[in-house]
Amino acid sequence: MRIAIISDIHSNLEALQKAFEIIDRKNIDEIVCLGDVVGYGADPNRCLELVRHRTTHILMGNHDEAAIDLSVTRYFNQFARHAAYWTSEKLTEENLEFLKALPLRLELWGLTFVHSTPRNTEEWNYIFSSFEAHQYFDAFDTKICFVGHSHVPGIYSEDGRTATVKPNLRYIINVGSVGQPRDGDPRLSFGIFDTEAWRYEHVRSEYDTYAAATKIMQQGLPRYLGERLLAGM
Ligand code: ZN
Repeated sequence: MRIAIISDIHSNLEALQKAFEIIDRKNIDEIVCLGDVVGYGADPNRCLELVRHRTTHILMGNHDEAAIDLSVTRYFNQFARHAAYWTSEKLTEENLEFLKALPLRLELWGLTFVHSTPRNTEEWNYIFSSFEAHQYFDAFDTKICFVGHSHVPGIYSEDGRTATVKPNLRYIINVGSVGQPRDGDPRLSFGIFDTEAWRYEHVRSEYDTYAAATKIMQQGLPRYLGERLLAGM
């Protein structure tokens, strides 16, 4: 089985449509979305509707939570908070109800999926390094746990050394962000895992960053949220 794992779309329709175009050419059986479908970008409803149309496996991210409970934005910076208020106002009642029911964790096909970390997921901690990843290997039972949240793609093995996926080792894999990459590379990012070949493919692709950034500014959202898409930060 070939599984596409997408995360952190952040209401970026241009990036999401491009990701699905690629997925449609890659012989994919299942799609899992690790959350943060909304927040920051200009198209929350259309992104959520497209993700809902394409997969039933969708997790809650911290920006999805913020859209249904604005009190959690006290932990957000000013840009994220502004976008969360804007998003919660724009989302349809049906989409808000849908977000409320999303789970924090999925275990499917012998793999674990979470938005942030596999322990105390709702605390929304970040994994940016092997050192940080190491403390979470006892918080899941499968060989691989897929995460998003940091918007920085990475493969963290339990031995702290191996950056390619091998069958005899356990991994935490960050698939990166579709709609707001932050590793200095503005191209969209997601992952494909083949359970038979036990092979992980990291996909990067250009998309129309300029169109996505322009829409953000036209909606009166903070200009910085558009500019960062062009820089991948
Ligand atoms: Zn995010």
